[in-house]
Amino acid sequence: MKTSLEILHVSAECYPVAKAGGLGDVVGSLPRFQQELGHKARVVMPMYRTPYLYAHDWEVVHKSSSNLGHWWFDYTVIREKSNAQGFELFLLDINGLLDRDKVYGYDDDTERFCAFQIAVAHWMNSWDVLPNVVHVHDHHAALLPFIMQHAYAYKRLQYIPTILTIHNAQYQGAFGWEKTLYIPQWDSWKRGLLEWKGTINPLASGIKCAWKVTTVSNSYLGELRHMSNGLEPLFEYEKGKCSGILNGIDYKVWNPQNDKYLDEHFSLVDADAGKKKNKNIICDRFGLDPQKPLFIFIGRLVGEKGADLLPGMIVDSFKFIGRKMNFLVLGNGESETEHQLSQLNSIAKSDYNVYIGYNETLSHLMYAAADFIIMPSRVEPCGLNQLYAMRYGTIPVVRNTGGLRDTVIDMGETNGYGITFNNASVGDITHGIYRAVGIYNQKEIFRSIRQKIMELDFSWHRSAEEYVSLYQTFQ
Ligand code: ADP
Repeated sequence: MKTSLEILHVSAECYPVAKAGGLGDVVGSLPRFQQELGHKARVVMPMYRTPYLYAHDWEVVHKSSSNLGHWWFDYTVIREKSNAQGFELFLLDINGLLDRDKVYGYDDDTERFCAFQIAVAHWMNSWDVLPNVVHVHDHHAALLPFIMQHAYAYKRLQYIPTILTIHNAQYQGAFGWEKTLYIPQWDSWKRGLLEWKGTINPLASGIKCAWKVTTVSNSYLGELRHMSNGLEPLFEYEKGKCSGILNGIDYKVWNPQNDKYLDEHFSLVDADAGKKKNKNIICDRFGLDPQKPLFIFIGRLVGEKGADLLPGMIVDSFKFIGRKMNFLVLGNGESETEHQLSQLNSIAKSDYNVYIGYNETLSHLMYAAADFIIMPSRVEPCGLNQLYAMRYGTIPVVRNTGGLRDTVIDMGETNGYGITFNNASVGDITHGIYRAVGIYNQKEIFRSIRQKIMELDFSWHRSAEEYVSLYQTFQ
């Protein structure tokens, strides 16, 4: 018989409270789908000063104090009163440490996330009924399995099954042994469970200590054994407890029929007309030519996403294919790439523009307006952009890696619907653009592919069930 489980998700991000990337999207929707499956899913995250905090009503559920090494701090846990997200949402505040405007990027991020995890363990230790599963996400929460199992103060938590989901293994949160006091007093024989290459490495510790480890796609899991920023042998050694579960997308947020960020809605039956209206809006706003195919890029402007290849790709496309297409880029990140992309405005002839920054509203409009989305990622754990894009009838042009490999089939293959290429090189992407322009000009084929991608099912139901099946192996 299947029992109802109590699941606690611990994460640094959760959309719409605070989001910096895909982690926020996943933690904002997976718990709701687990609730729909009959389980009780809760999320605890740091309390940042985001608009969501001020727009909702909260009640204080717990107040106490704990310590980070020699530093004692008070912490408060508040609960969103109306369960607006479809699950219980708790924010944990440590005055002066967590209540900042941004999620990451501070010099004391190590202290912030260590203190957050200690406070979560401390708070959980006070519960009368403990959760059936603690599901931690990425390195900001990955020390919890160790703390729960090996810190003397939290022995009561040691048999709670823990799952670590890795959304991005490039970031590991490593810090030096001089900060060892940050971990609540622990059995020093267990030093090896914290250690990786001479540092305390939270992600490595999570991989060693969590009962199960998941990554957000199967291909990414395979790739981590060969390329994971130094953790390759660990992934190889721990492969027996690792599995890949592909992310879903939240159709309540990402649905062109009722997307709250769009003025012009559309569905499968009127996709051509609906997308055209959105394209006109965006071309008007960014000075682009609506007659040409619109290629977009949305994302962090970092090497992982292949963003440094965009300027070369744009110049080469104009040079070798001709000025037959528009490019619109939305993103922020490495200053060199931001600068190069901004400079390209000087060669634009109603066929290129860039928006440097983070803009949720604009991203929705771009998915709705575009003909193609470009993703030349060097590393892509799952990739949500291609899934959102396909839902909005935008054809993916992607590198064959990680989650992109698992979700996009090249149109040259049986049942294919996207354009894929193998190398993160300007030449390969430009060839992909060339193929895309060719398809755009064959209207019937283009339309049938658009229909096909809009019908693909990447809903959360399947993935939420896979997570629950994994939890159930412990019960
Ligand atoms: P990441 O590795 O950044 O988490 P994902 O593809 O998993 O990549 O998720 C990216 C998410 O962040 C998507 O929802 C995408 O639309 C959004 N996003 C990324 N950059 C921006 C931006 N500059 N403005 C708006 N949304 C963005």
